[in-house]
Amino acid sequence: MLTRDLGIFTERGGTILFYLSKKGNVVVDSQFPEQAGHLITELQKKNGYPFEVLINTHHHGDHSGGNIAFKDLLKRVLVHSNSKINQLKVARDRNIEATQLFPTQTFDKIWSEKIGKERVTLHYFGAAHTNGDSLVHFEKANIVHMGDLMFNRRHPNVDRSAGANIKSWINVLEETNKAFNSKTNFVFGHAAEGYSVTGSKSDLEAFKNYLAALLEHTGNSIAQGKSLEDLVKSTSVPGAPEWKGDGIARPLTAAYEELTASK
Ligand SMILES: [Zn+2]
Ligand SMILES: [Zn+2]
Repeated sequence: MLTRDLGIFTERGGTILFYLSKKGNVVVDSQFPEQAGHLITELQKKNGYPFEVLINTHHHGDHSGGNIAFKDLLKRVLVHSNSKINQLKVARDRNIEATQLFPTQTFDKIWSEKIGKERVTLHYFGAAHTNGDSLVHFEKANIVHMGDLMFNRRHPNVDRSAGANIKSWINVLEETNKAFNSKTNFVFGHAAEGYSVTGSKSDLEAFKNYLAALLEHTGNSIAQGKSLEDLVKSTSVPGAPEWKGDGIARPLTAAYEELTASK
């Protein structure tokens, strides 16, 4: 538990945030069906109240795959409008529509509702990890679920097939910094081994610097005439030594494609 009413669940996949309320529990992200089942069992043990709404920070399977476990337990699944489009498209392309629970409600810029003692507000600041990433703010507790807008000290997935954009992602993190205060507690979609899935503005700042360093390093390589093949041999991003380990090729490739596409 992060507070008396809000807690996180981290079995496998993107971090889940839940809010316990007499007016109905709120769940943000759902991991996969098996994990969602475990969460539902735990929450029913905790208070046994019905579910008011399930929110997905974005459409990726490690955040929405478990929706189906809530099928008969709630009426509302809320996401950004682009996230719904992305989820429908991926499900159709992969022929997995039958295993999905699709959103029933969408928003574009901001959405807010009082649920029990909390006010839950969703913000959309633009394209980033996808083109449909929501920030979910529990205002009273001052806790924000960032979804995959935050990879804490871990190389991110940049889903260009779903409209991701690194330059815009940096701007989204700047907007986030302006929108919340120094006491805000942030929940991250993913973290590297040994790092926390919760943190503060300073972690957001560090990740923003990583993304800027990623674009700079990639831009320099392109200017030196290096190919994508050469670029992905990089073992770290100069200026962002805390981001190490596997998965560097993905953001380097995305940065390369982004910078060469805009020329
Ligand atoms: Zn994820
Ligand atoms: Zn994701």
